[in-house]
Amino acid sequence: MKKVMLMMVMAGIMVAAQAQTDKKEAPKKEMKMKEHVCTKACTKEHHAYAHGEKGHSCTDACKKKG
Ligand SMILES: [Zn+2]
Ligand SMILES: [Zn+2]
Repeated sequence: MKKVMLMMVMAGIMVAAQAQTDKKEAPKKEMKMKEHVCTKACTKEHHAYAHGEKGHSCTDACKKKG
């Protein structure tokens, strides 16, 4: 009988844990990153990611633009 009790407790913990994770939704950080579209500036080795595109990392040029 002890085993059954243990299993029920375990199940209860699992359900509680699942309920918690359900509530704990990840904050929706909607990064407005566009998919990269190749341009004339792109090469096979290096892609010229435009500002706001995935893979782009801001440079001083970006900051100047604002
Ligand atoms: Zn590209
Ligand atoms: Zn940028």
